[in-house]
Amino acid sequence: MINWLFLDKNICYICKSNEAVAHFLCKDCLKKLDYVANQFKIDNYQAHAVYFYNETMKKLIADYKFNRNTSLSKVFSSILYDYGRVHKLFDVDYILPSPSSRQTINDRGFDHIRMICDYFIDDINPSYLDNFTKERNTKAQHTLSKDERSYNLKGAFKFDGDLSGKSVLIIDDLITTGNTVKEMAKVLEKSNVKEVTALAITSEHRLN
Ligand SMILES: [Zn+2]
Repeated sequence: MINWLFLDKNICYICKSNEAVAHFLCKDCLKKLDYVANQFKIDNYQAHAVYFYNETMKKLIADYKFNRNTSLSKVFSSILYDYGRVHKLFDVDYILPSPSSRQTINDRGFDHIRMICDYFIDDINPSYLDNFTKERNTKAQHTLSKDERSYNLKGAFKFDGDLSGKSVLIIDDLITTGNTVKEMAKVLEKSNVKEVTALAITSEHRLN
């Protein structure tokens, strides 16, 4: 059984007043989120984003990452788990939570994407792809120009191993330009990966 089912009382994690109906959120707060279930390509890779990156989602992600409201990891976990199951995204060999650099983890106090995946990793078939690391700190992608963005990530990720015949699902919080996914996929390709897909909680893409 998934850990997050029984941890807390059934109260919405955003407004902390109404009864939660799904993903630890109440009806009203869920309505403020913009469910899009977008599927799009980043280069040749299939990517999925569950929600549009609207003001409510922006605040939620910031509250989690920068205010260290770690209880929100359960909200995001529930969202990704449901989406991944329904869309059969967990039929892969490995799950790769987009890694943070050592410095970011130390500053923040937790590995924010990994924490989200920790809730469901034991309940799905794939295991974590170990030893895929972010070697250096990079600037937040959204603060940079288009050219700076791709340069910013060059050589940021590292993996040693052979992924011949293996498939990997990258999990991230936000997909903006897709450069992070591209850069990670590039490193996986060097290890002969068969297939890479990506799943994010939210994206600025709006396709429907
Ligand atoms: Zn609420």
